[in-house]
Amino acid sequence: MRKKIVAGNWKLNKTYEEALSLVSEIENMVKDEVNGDVTVIVSPPFPYLQSVGKLVQGNSKMHLAAQNVSEHDSGAYTGEVSAAMLKSVGVEYVIIGHSERRLYHHEDAQTLYKKLKAAIANGMKPIFCCGEPLEERDAERHFEYVGKQLHDSLSYLSNEEFDQVVVAYEPIWAIGTGRTASSQQAQEMHEYIREQLSRMFDAAAAHNTSILYGGSCNPGNAQELFSQADVDGGLIGGASLKSRDFTDIIKSF
Ligand code: PEP
Repeated sequence: MRKKIVAGNWKLNKTYEEALSLVSEIENMVKDEVNGDVTVIVSPPFPYLQSVGKLVQGNSKMHLAAQNVSEHDSGAYTGEVSAAMLKSVGVEYVIIGHSERRLYHHEDAQTLYKKLKAAIANGMKPIFCCGEPLEERDAERHFEYVGKQLHDSLSYLSNEEFDQVVVAYEPIWAIGTGRTASSQQAQEMHEYIREQLSRMFDAAAAHNTSILYGGSCNPGNAQELFSQADVDGGLIGGASLKSRDFTDIIKSF
């Protein structure tokens, strides 16, 4: 059975002290309040990974993710962080293909494919993000757009490599805007994604892949979104920076 996952993407937020307080609060709340079988992931900025990882390692529900990884293994790539480096400090998941990295850092499908390969080769699980901009939805080309994103980066993976991947559908018009996709919009896209995955890999792989929704998810809308048949959890931005909100989202299954 596929996993239920709630992943917090902290982005470019929090000082070191603030990050440690936030993760301690989340860890305590998860320990005290979360009973079900849910995988909780936190994604702090690079410099805090090891310290945050130490604070969650005793909690079997909690896991550590990086927000990015280099497609290169080593060498003269100033400012980059490799998959092996992340693995060596206890990182288990890595967000790949977030729309902010595609847009501001010009990460194309081929680069994302290389990042996926690097992460998987080093024993990490990618959280692969896809999602359409508003103009594509308005033009009713959103299925085609997301299908191409999936095909262009994922389809070159082997079945065994793909087994490690979590997919996150994040419509760009819903990220940080307060405008959430309706549960129906999320469900129909998640169903479409699963269908595409079953063509690229096989039905069992598609069935077992967790597909997360991301985009202005909050404690008020998480339950409705997570109750959809093909929505297996959420990738949470803004609301993951508040321990109470994040925990309430985790409790929405
Ligand atoms: C995100 O950027 O991954 C995200 C889902 O952000 P927010 O929840 O703030 O819309």
